[in-house]
Amino acid sequence: MTAPASPAPPLPAPEPAPYRGAPARHPRRPRHPLDIRTDPEAVELTAPVFGPADVHDLDADLTRQHPGEPLGERLTVTGRVLDRAGRPVRGQLVEIWQANASGRYAHRQDRHPAPLDPHFTGVGRCLTDDRGRYAFTTVRPGAYPLPGERAWRPAHIHFSFFGTAFTQRLVTQMYFPGDPLLAYDQMLASVADPAARQSLIAVYDHELSLPDGPLCYRWDVVLDGPSATRTEEGR
Ligand code: FE
Repeated sequence: MTAPASPAPPLPAPEPAPYRGAPARHPRRPRHPLDIRTDPEAVELTAPVFGPADVHDLDADLTRQHPGEPLGERLTVTGRVLDRAGRPVRGQLVEIWQANASGRYAHRQDRHPAPLDPHFTGVGRCLTDDRGRYAFTTVRPGAYPLPGERAWRPAHIHFSFFGTAFTQRLVTQMYFPGDPLLAYDQMLASVADPAARQSLIAVYDHELSLPDGPLCYRWDVVLDGPSATRTEEGR
């Protein structure tokens, strides 16, 4: 009688290549220093400033922006925006954009042959409250392939943190835990530090996922300092 065969060990994930599109997304010219005393465009250092009157509650609910219901698994994505000392960043404009449940963006340059959802645009925004908290209601975005490559982006939501002016804006992406595509993602692989990579992955919060309500994911963001959340500036 032969011993039962032990299960084959899992295959190691291949080393993802660097994201080839990255160089095309960076500024091509050197920085231009601004003098706020002599340059009228230096107003961009202090404006525009978004206030409560500019952002409405419905802007943060991506499932209620059209007359009908979008397809997809309902989610709440929430967290705190913090500075390097762990203090809440209040009144911060947080913007998100994402693909629909089929992995298709409502954007004319998206050629992925997955269906558009007439009830989902995939864009939202809110202001952080006094504890630095943001919250969005949305649907789980689908994965999508990178054109011409054997690579799929894992489910992700793009985030922008505006600061107090255009020049301070930070842009990054949030991922979902347990996604098998995380190991193959070129964007995530471009972050060398494992702890920094992990900080881009949200946490499923069972306590906040109420009966009949959306599933809840928590994702805190640190805007600066040694533990800053990695952004698309390639730090
Ligand atoms: Fe994307």
